[in-house]
Amino acid sequence: MDDVDPFARGRLELTMRRVRRFLRERIEPAVHGERRPVAVRAWTVGGEPVPFAEAAAQRFDPFAVGEPWGRPWDTVWFEVRGEVPQEWASDEAELLVDLGFDEAQPGFQAEATAYRPDGSVVKAVEPRNAWVPIDGSGPFTLLIEAAANPVVFTPYAYRPTPVGDPASAGSEPIYRLTTLEVARRDAEVWELLQDVLVLDGLVDVLPEDGARRAQLVTALERMVDVMDPADVPGTAAAGRAALAPALAVRAADSALRVSAVGHAHIDSAWLWPTRETVRKVARTFANVLDLLDRDPDFVYAASSAQQYAWLQASQPALFERVRAAVDSGRIRPVGGMWVESDTNMPSGESLVRQLVHGKRWFLEHLGVESDEVWLPDSFGYTAAFPQIARAAGMRSFVTQKPSWNETNRMPYSTFLWEGIDGSRLLTHFPPADTYNSDLGAEDLARTERRFAEKGRAKEVLGLFGFGDGGGGPTREMLAAAHRKADLDGSPRVRLTDPATFFADAAAELPDPSVWSGEMYLELHRGTLISQQRTKRGNRRNEALLREAELWATTAAVLRGAAYPYDALEEAWRTVLLQQFHDILPGSSIAWVHQEAERNHAAVSAALEGLIGGALAALGGGGGDPVVANAAPLARHGVPALGIGPASEPVAATPRPTPRGFALVDDALRVVVDRRGVLLSVQDRASGREVLPEGLPGGVLQLFRDTPRDWDAWDIDAEDQRTGVELLAPESVEVEGDAVVVRHRFGASTVEVRIRVVDGRLDYAFAIDWHETQKLLKLAFPLDVRATHATSEIQFGHLQRPIHRNTSWDSARFETVAHRWIHVGETGFGVAIANDVVYGHDVRAAVAPSGRPMAVARLSLLRAPLFPDPTADQGRHAFTVSLRPGGIPEAIDDGYRQHLPRRTTSGTPVEPLVAVTDPAVLVEAVKLAEDRSGDVVVRLSESLGGRAAGEVRTTFPWTSVVATDLLEREVASTALGGSTPGDSARIALRPFELLTLRFRR
Ligand SMILES: [Zn+2]
Repeated sequence: MDDVDPFARGRLELTMRRVRRFLRERIEPAVHGERRPVAVRAWTVGGEPVPFAEAAAQRFDPFAVGEPWGRPWDTVWFEVRGEVPQEWASDEAELLVDLGFDEAQPGFQAEATAYRPDGSVVKAVEPRNAWVPIDGSGPFTLLIEAAANPVVFTPYAYRPTPVGDPASAGSEPIYRLTTLEVARRDAEVWELLQDVLVLDGLVDVLPEDGARRAQLVTALERMVDVMDPADVPGTAAAGRAALAPALAVRAADSALRVSAVGHAHIDSAWLWPTRETVRKVARTFANVLDLLDRDPDFVYAASSAQQYAWLQASQPALFERVRAAVDSGRIRPVGGMWVESDTNMPSGESLVRQLVHGKRWFLEHLGVESDEVWLPDSFGYTAAFPQIARAAGMRSFVTQKPSWNETNRMPYSTFLWEGIDGSRLLTHFPPADTYNSDLGAEDLARTERRFAEKGRAKEVLGLFGFGDGGGGPTREMLAAAHRKADLDGSPRVRLTDPATFFADAAAELPDPSVWSGEMYLELHRGTLISQQRTKRGNRRNEALLREAELWATTAAVLRGAAYPYDALEEAWRTVLLQQFHDILPGSSIAWVHQEAERNHAAVSAALEGLIGGALAALGGGGGDPVVANAAPLARHGVPALGIGPASEPVAATPRPTPRGFALVDDALRVVVDRRGVLLSVQDRASGREVLPEGLPGGVLQLFRDTPRDWDAWDIDAEDQRTGVELLAPESVEVEGDAVVVRHRFGASTVEVRIRVVDGRLDYAFAIDWHETQKLLKLAFPLDVRATHATSEIQFGHLQRPIHRNTSWDSARFETVAHRWIHVGETGFGVAIANDVVYGHDVRAAVAPSGRPMAVARLSLLRAPLFPDPTADQGRHAFTVSLRPGGIPEAIDDGYRQHLPRRTTSGTPVEPLVAVTDPAVLVEAVKLAEDRSGDVVVRLSESLGGRAAGEVRTTFPWTSVVATDLLEREVASTALGGSTPGDSARIALRPFELLTLRFRR
């Protein structure tokens, strides 16, 4: 930059100051030069939102512009009466609304919906989209449903706020109605304004001393020269003529091509409850429908079947218009998931059902099947996802969240993403690094800077539109898109749909690079820990859904019992909604998490009812106690997926020793000392000690937790440099077969019951947690020389390095595991299983003896203050188990943690299906979604090797086929033939997922 001519630069800057002042003070005010007042009356709901008909029937009181309105979360309906002068043209009249907007953010605050007196929705009002078209001339009436959504988050302040809970949100109005008037929009001046904004934006991003920039500045200067500041409407055409030559210069041959897809990222809950999302979705679609009528080239993409279903239920007339726009290809349902879920934490079967319920809903209600996965905002992406997505018929994947990485930049923009089984999915990161673009020059310049394949490809995706209550794409964005279709200094912009983009991207890049494994987000690692009760509900219900489907299917097939299709569908959809990427991760306001906990509890109760009913139908009235084993592995003599008499688990009896208590059974010898920690865990068969010499195990560690940013989302590695170990319990005593350790610290208490049962060390925690900004971990140092640790993920497991060789390794300091982790060396390893923990870290270290070891830690609790200042306060329970063993033992323990022994009474029941190869796990047994009565069995190879064997059945069937996740027949090499009514031969590759459909 040293050689930029300072004199020339100074002159251009002076010119632009003149241009921008003219823009600000002359052009912008002239767009709506003529304005007239309206008469306003108001009715305050004083509670939860009501439908239009109920609001319209109320008594409205006079209200003046300038008055305050809206206590937090309340709704105020404004009745607006005005008149459009006859001399205005039919499309010139607009109602301008300012609800008291804060300019700083395009959404995240008050919003409104405008209705005609007949109840039809006209359009929405948001901070940067605050106009409503008025049909015709003469008198008019509109009803404005204004939502007093409080500002919870001011970037980037993380102040604890009471407004996220309606009980503490306050009762004073938080907004003031600033503007409500009818105005005449001068179309020529508006077009001039868009011309100026496009060129002005380019001036900011072009090379400082380049010719194109100088030409643009000159054109803008000429525009100012030819216009009369006292008569902008009368000279707007002349101003546009002065700019026309600059706007007509075509883009360079080398310019990238941006496929601009209209979009609004609407979080299904976050800084507002789901009930407000219902209205946000309706408002955004209302704007989109208005814009579709105005611009024949505009295409809009929206994900999440749940959001369409909300629209259908809440605004059926709007939904019908959306359906018509889907029919004509103008609105593209994308993603095919029920919601844009988290992908780290939901189980494999949950991710399957996200796609099954999403795609089924789109097919049934909109007649379309999307094949692009659409997860722009989730906090990292599981290595299991490519296979699951492909099995649901998906072909491509969109996200931009990895651009938020703090440490490393993902090396590709368009690439193949490969999962643990080798499945690949064409993936694209829109290089603007935002899903809320305005198609401004800065976003497009960033697109060019950051597009990794720009040396050999030109096709990129641009998602434009204000999300989260910003109202989606605007007419200004479309104006920019059209002007940039072929404009020198800008990438070419075309308005199109995602499928067209992916087809073109695939065609021009026949040999994309490959990213293998998980796409770990180097940020927001605390989302694996925050709001533990929401996470517990998810884990619990995932396990209960498995049991409910298995036993309901078994009862339907063997006893002719009715299969509870509707109840299971409702339970699944409720659970799937709570997996949304701000609910399960714990990053929402208190209101959302209170609701999630209530929803999970209701689902648990419903599922327990279904399970009880199915087991009763299977029991046949017999009186003998039997155990229903829903695990895919035999337990206590009961076959996998069967019901039968079981042996009792055997717990070791604690006995005092000089240093504490010993718990000994055939497999383990464990010593708990007076500090309440493990002194020794010995594998009796090998004589090998699990703990490194001189280090205690099972230690609770308490760290400060004061992240730089993003309180509920982030934990910082720096905060874990210093902490305290809880080594001075209030008591350590024997109660029955448990050594019970009680800690008291801060305002909290922890009770730990330590037992040895069936060769496993079992920890049961009961925690009453009243800390703030603290992180609680449970640490097990292990006398194991390992370079990798293994974590269970969906339908398999993932190995991650535990050293810190590279910045990628260092950044991965908190990782997700599902039911278990395993740390081992050849011939010896340790399995640690849990019932609700997702956040783990395992690192290589050196023991006091100087020998290498590994330290495995489970992240139990934290207590962030934003956005929910009460997050995680109160009671929690965890169970954790540890035993020497390999991956099969870890898998077995994981199932034990999630499927507690379920005792019932009756006669033994043979499993419907049994698999001869123990590496193949039955992940789901259910009746087909199409309610034909066919039995669907989902299997996966669990050890990362080849598996072959038979699926043996105990029920009559006529044929078996392999299917996709939507249970449609597909060709598969995994199904090797069958003997109808008896067995199917299967052969699976490492981690392969197979869905079988048995026709009855
Ligand atoms: Zn989001």
